[in-house]
Amino acid sequence: MSKLLAVGTVAFDAIETPFGKTDKILGGSGTFVGLAASQFGIETGVVSVVGGDFPESYLSMMNDKGINTDGVEVVKDGKTFFWSGRYHNDMNSRDTLVTELNVLADFNPVVPEAFKNASIVMLGNLHPLVQLSVLEQMNEKPKLVILDTMNFWMDSALGDLHTVLKRIDVITINDEEARQLSGEYSLVNAAKKIHEMGPKYVVIKKGEHGALLFHNGKMFFAPALPLAEVFDPTGAGDTFAGGFAGYLAKTEDVSFENLKNAIIYGSNLASFCVEKFGTQRMEELTADEVKHRLEAFKELTQFDIRLS
Ligand code: AMP
Repeated sequence: MSKLLAVGTVAFDAIETPFGKTDKILGGSGTFVGLAASQFGIETGVVSVVGGDFPESYLSMMNDKGINTDGVEVVKDGKTFFWSGRYHNDMNSRDTLVTELNVLADFNPVVPEAFKNASIVMLGNLHPLVQLSVLEQMNEKPKLVILDTMNFWMDSALGDLHTVLKRIDVITINDEEARQLSGEYSLVNAAKKIHEMGPKYVVIKKGEHGALLFHNGKMFFAPALPLAEVFDPTGAGDTFAGGFAGYLAKTEDVSFENLKNAIIYGSNLASFCVEKFGTQRMEELTADEVKHRLEAFKELTQFDIRLS
């Protein structure tokens, strides 16, 4: 069976949106990546760290979904990573209110033996040196290494981020972060500059405006499905990345043409994630719902124009 190794945060989030507010709920980049990838019937292993305050029921929920959590270290006398954010009325932008690294501050990831030969590696949003350490523990060169990151790490560990960027194949970041990383406003120019930093594929996520894929002067665009109700965009970016990586692990085809399909899968899964607070929608998502919405994606983007 195909294997996906994902590293990222397994966290507590507290979220405020125009629709309401949550106390500490389950979140984290690794959690959302794992839940998205669990849709593909592949073996997904998550590497992360939590504190003694982290409910076991969250880990068993992930296990029930087929996600292997052997690589999630539990630091009994430590506190779990905590992030809190408030969304603006447009739901596209947010302010980070709190980032408490807690057990993440001295995290040394250990990749379980069984995942050291994973064909696809998803370096989810986390300190770039932790991402690098995961990569260095692989027994063989993975078919594809994907990296997701955010402004927090660009602000606090830019040099380390550049080191790991040289070692990866695909970067997935949002438009604002692509501009920050490249210093370019135009996303086409931003992608060019980011290519020069290492990744041969650059995926730029534009929230409700879809996602762009750049490779060797070629470009592909996938829309986000226009939704009547968006409750909480938290985790949409990670869900996109998990769907993208999960689809590639399942198909084991890393051609540009197949990366386009992976983008569609990522967008499709992200469109579910935003429908409820936190991980709730992804926890209850069924294969039928995914299939049905893929048909809607096809209809949304297909046209037949005469060019003469
Ligand atoms: P997204 O909305 O896809 O950007 O991801 C939101 C998730 O990222 C939340 O569940 C947070 O727990 C997690 N998160 C927030 N800040 C960080 C950070 N600096 N590093 C890793 N994960 C983070």
